[in-house]
Amino acid sequence: MIQPGELVALNEHFDHAPTEEILRWAWDRFGARAGIGTSFQGAGLVMIDIARKNGFNFPVFTIDTGLLFPETVALKTRLEQHFGFSIEQLVPDLTVDQQAASAGPELWKNDPDLCCTMRKVVPLQNRLADLDCWITGLRRQQSDTRSGIGVLELYVFDESTGREIVKLNPMAGWSRESVWKYLHDQKIPYNPLHDQGYRSIGCWPCTKKDSGGENERAGRWTGFNKSECGIHTFMKKKS
Ligand code: SF4
Repeated sequence: MIQPGELVALNEHFDHAPTEEILRWAWDRFGARAGIGTSFQGAGLVMIDIARKNGFNFPVFTIDTGLLFPETVALKTRLEQHFGFSIEQLVPDLTVDQQAASAGPELWKNDPDLCCTMRKVVPLQNRLADLDCWITGLRRQQSDTRSGIGVLELYVFDESTGREIVKLNPMAGWSRESVWKYLHDQKIPYNPLHDQGYRSIGCWPCTKKDSGGENERAGRWTGFNKSECGIHTFMKKKS
């Protein structure tokens, strides 16, 4: 895996490196053992475009919780047609109805952490078990909880075995404006809900339009003390 000294040196370099160069490093080092996870927010789409245009054919996967907006479901097909490859769909063990029967109806209203664990975290864990590097579209500007992310991070994936996984955030330094300029310039399909005032889009029960302040994720889980679904917090960061 990556030694501490190498991690520091790479991060110092990657903080000023073009996204293409960061992705090239991941492709050279991990090949298809690195995968892009996306919920089709703008930054992830930019990253996929840069990767594919440079021949870095990472597997690309998304989590279909069964509670996505119809616009998000339709976007997956539009993106597959645009990019010309299939996006892998991860699904929870239980359907929404099965979850209601076992854990209670509309779990997102009573225990959103458990709902996110069942519908997002577990499917992701299963996929990451086959990867050495998880590539995300996280940006520092998105929220306070993301403001300190590194481009390259090392996590303990499995405490019992000590297995580690690299998390790569090549879009960490991008601004919202630069993401949208890229999407428009390259004519990449995006979620039409963005044009209706949604800045960050997840499951329909937990996503609202927001007022446009600093926190781009303010429309997620309104009414709860929650700003992350858990997919970016379930592993222990090593460095
Ligand atoms: S975002 Fe809401 S509906 Fe989706 S998995 Fe989490 S709690 Fe459930």
